[in-house]
Amino acid sequence: MGLCCGYYAQKEGWQVTILESGDENRSGCSFGNAGMVVPSHMVPLAAPGMLGLGVRMMFNRRSPFAIKPRITAELLQWSYNFMKAATAEHVQRVAPLLRDLNLSSREAYLELEDELGPVFNLTQRGLIMLCKTEKMLDEEEKTADLARGLGVPAQVLDSAALNELDPGITMDVCGGIYFPRDCHLSPDKFVAAITRRFKELGGVVALNAEVVDWRHRGNCITAVATAEGEYEGDEFVLSAGAWSSLVASKLGLRIPMQAGKGYSITLSNAPQMPEICSILMEARVAVTPMGDNLRFGGTMEIAGLDQSVSRERVRGIIESIPSYFPAFESSLFRGKPVWSGLRPCSPDGIPYIGRFNSFNNLICATGHAMMGLSLAPVTGRIVANLLQGAVPSFDMQALSPNRYQPVK
Ligand SMILES: Cc1cc2nc3c(=O)[nH]c(=O)nc-3n(C[C@H](O)[C@H](O)[C@H](O)COP(=O)(O)OP(=O)(O)OC[C@H]3O[C@@H](n4cnc5c(N)ncnc54)[C@H](O)[C@@H]3O)c2cc1C
Repeated sequence: MGLCCGYYAQKEGWQVTILESGDENRSGCSFGNAGMVVPSHMVPLAAPGMLGLGVRMMFNRRSPFAIKPRITAELLQWSYNFMKAATAEHVQRVAPLLRDLNLSSREAYLELEDELGPVFNLTQRGLIMLCKTEKMLDEEEKTADLARGLGVPAQVLDSAALNELDPGITMDVCGGIYFPRDCHLSPDKFVAAITRRFKELGGVVALNAEVVDWRHRGNCITAVATAEGEYEGDEFVLSAGAWSSLVASKLGLRIPMQAGKGYSITLSNAPQMPEICSILMEARVAVTPMGDNLRFGGTMEIAGLDQSVSRERVRGIIESIPSYFPAFESSLFRGKPVWSGLRPCSPDGIPYIGRFNSFNNLICATGHAMMGLSLAPVTGRIVANLLQGAVPSFDMQALSPNRYQPVK
């Protein structure tokens, strides 16, 4: 997110420095994710039934969704706001916004491919939501109806049609929903390419530069403090992923956030290679071809800022795969490294993008949960617009980082 903001701002003529706490070997959330660009995803995480699902699955150590039982004020407040937001009305209200953001970002990715070259495996072949059971297929048909109602093409396909659509992989499913406008790419290659271009444009990336505090005069931020010294600036963008609420709190700002931990495992020796990315719906596992590799990713574990790997949950991912793709025995995954990443999750499933009311030169760009790869370019463009004093063409009220600030 930070790189896309930096890239578009630098293109507008700003001199941008990105402060990154990690070093050149960092491998956070934007590197090992499932690489899907998703106009199909117009239902936010805060949807009816999701919190109940988390609580029901709490004690199943292999489940794809879980909330680790903890009593912290932040988690209680976040869960309360999540519950308040998880209504059918909320979904109806925000679906057009998520559609517009995702479609605009998709266009931006195509333009970025023209500029950066075909170096990040951008593939416009769509996405399939694969369903093992009739029950899930019936459920997903509702998502397809919602999508079509909003002008996003979606086709309900039976197993024969699916096998015809992607003959590269044997599927044992009852059917699926095909979203032809979705895309996929290799996120680590995209991060490398956009970093390269950002630097060519004159941007600076300062590594090992953890922001530990802010300096401000009244409602104007003057500098950020890192262990290596202070960085002054005219404008500041807060985009620290799952850590953003922590960094914002040092200014007394409240952007409720929970980290949603997920894992991925990448096979370089896949026995079959699909051409289209898919989500195994009951198991909630994402499957993405990335050049010669095939990545499997899943789980959403609300467990604090803890990146440790739960072997049980990873086993849950691995053991679900052969029931959809019989050619993939669990033994293929033995000894493969497991990557973990923390999704920055707002309680209403909508990112925080916009200026903070209490400071006149601080913009927020975070909280994209399961869609941060997909929405990075459009977010970068919105931030560049705001820096230029332009009014973005999206519902900035819904995206406002001020929506959970206490009223003074
Ligand atoms: C298994 C899995 C699969 C996913 N699949 C998809 C997908 O298919 N499509 C999609 O759109 N999204 C997907 N996501 C979500 C996506 O990866 C995230 O939304 C996105 O990477 C978040 O990007 P970010 O830049 O906000 O956060 P990050 O990538 O976490 O970047 C934040 C950066 O801020 C740095 N930082 C933190 N604190 C400080 C500080 N104090 N000072 C300086 N630097 C700091 C961190 O080191 C980090 O590099 C997936 C996530 C997971 C876990």
